[in-house]
Amino acid sequence: MVQAPISNELFLRAQKSIPGGVNSPVRAFRAVGGNPRFMVSAKGPYMYDEDGNRYIDLINSWGPMILGHAAEVVNEAVMQAIPNSLSFGAPTRKEVEIAELIVSMMPSIEKVRMVNSGTEATMSAIRVARGFTGRDKMIKFEGCYHGHGDSFLISAGSGAITLGVPDSPGVTKGTANDTLTAPFNNLEAVQTLVDANKGQVAAIILEPVAGNMGLVPPAEGFLQGLRTLCDKEGIVLIFDEVMTGFRLAAGGAQQLFGVTPDLSTMGKIIGGGMPVGAYGGKQEIMDYVAPAGPVYQAGTLSGNPIAMAAGMAMLTYLKEHPEVYTQLEQVTGKMVAGMQQNMQKLGVNYTINRVGSMFSIFFTDEPVYDFESAKTSDTALFGRYFNGMLQRGVYLAPSQYEALFVSTAITDELAEQYVKANFEALQEALNG
Ligand code: PLP
Repeated sequence: MVQAPISNELFLRAQKSIPGGVNSPVRAFRAVGGNPRFMVSAKGPYMYDEDGNRYIDLINSWGPMILGHAAEVVNEAVMQAIPNSLSFGAPTRKEVEIAELIVSMMPSIEKVRMVNSGTEATMSAIRVARGFTGRDKMIKFEGCYHGHGDSFLISAGSGAITLGVPDSPGVTKGTANDTLTAPFNNLEAVQTLVDANKGQVAAIILEPVAGNMGLVPPAEGFLQGLRTLCDKEGIVLIFDEVMTGFRLAAGGAQQLFGVTPDLSTMGKIIGGGMPVGAYGGKQEIMDYVAPAGPVYQAGTLSGNPIAMAAGMAMLTYLKEHPEVYTQLEQVTGKMVAGMQQNMQKLGVNYTINRVGSMFSIFFTDEPVYDFESAKTSDTALFGRYFNGMLQRGVYLAPSQYEALFVSTAITDELAEQYVKANFEALQEALNG
């Protein structure tokens, strides 16, 4: 039995000085019950908590640690950068190099601006799309999450749906009115919205592979259909590749699916574990960004030298090691095949969605292709399953509505341990 008295005590203490005891809501384990574990260190596939418990990590800091924790190639770059000052607030060579690298990796990007988080990237991309088109409205998809910018907290996934606040209080009606929503994978619904708001839609933003309502892949023709519609209507198509960028392929989902957006937003892996985001795309749109153009966006710590060193090391490694993606594909495939066998043996209703090294198990007998179908899942069963896995030293995302991220540190042997834990935890969870 895994005990965590020190984490429990820290969580009690944290709640006195931090809202809900955490600095990002889903970390609080509200949806699955129990207390969060307070982490001290991590290396490769493992994280260690304050009580000395070890976990196989399948969240990987919600995506960034694609090479596992404390990857030497990234750590060394950070160590080298530190003595030269933690911040300049002036341009550096590394910013030029990382921009060139991103342009070389992401098929649709001609110019890119670095920011400090995925949220900043999506907020800025929407502003540029509005500035460029002179239109106000945007379309997003139910269950997609694009960070905590006001315009996106409408039918939002991730922690927002986990906590039952897909439409957050504090977002003004005026802002909410400019965000139109459609079901994911439903081109007809998007067409209807565009027709009803002729000449008013600045942008369509989506996660090309949704990861924030659990993992939901795009249906055949969905991404291409949006591309065609945007071209016809002069709408800016934005792929939010904060999760999928550099993960599903070195060039993200746009490379994997061969569909080119006008703008892309990035985060997570791009900083190698440091707080980094970026947005970029067609030159004619990006040249609207100040000081090249009139759309204002800035940041005291944007392009921070330590963060750029980490990101540069991570992206260079991924660009130079395409075998990373083959390895991730194989090991994740193995984990999913093992789980499928387990589910069948145990007679559980399930759907597993997977693209590359991202996947989710939904406890439902329906195919999951949008937010409504994702919500047919048995979340109580998920909660028991999550806690069973935690007891067996496997750290999963503490919500049905999140994807798991596999790192290259997961060996075949660890994949087998994972499958074994999955069987035992499920069996226990099914018994209530
Ligand atoms: N976009 C997507 C697709 C995300 O998954 C996230 C965060 O999980 C964000 C944007 C926001 O990124 P950040 O948490 O770095 O602000």
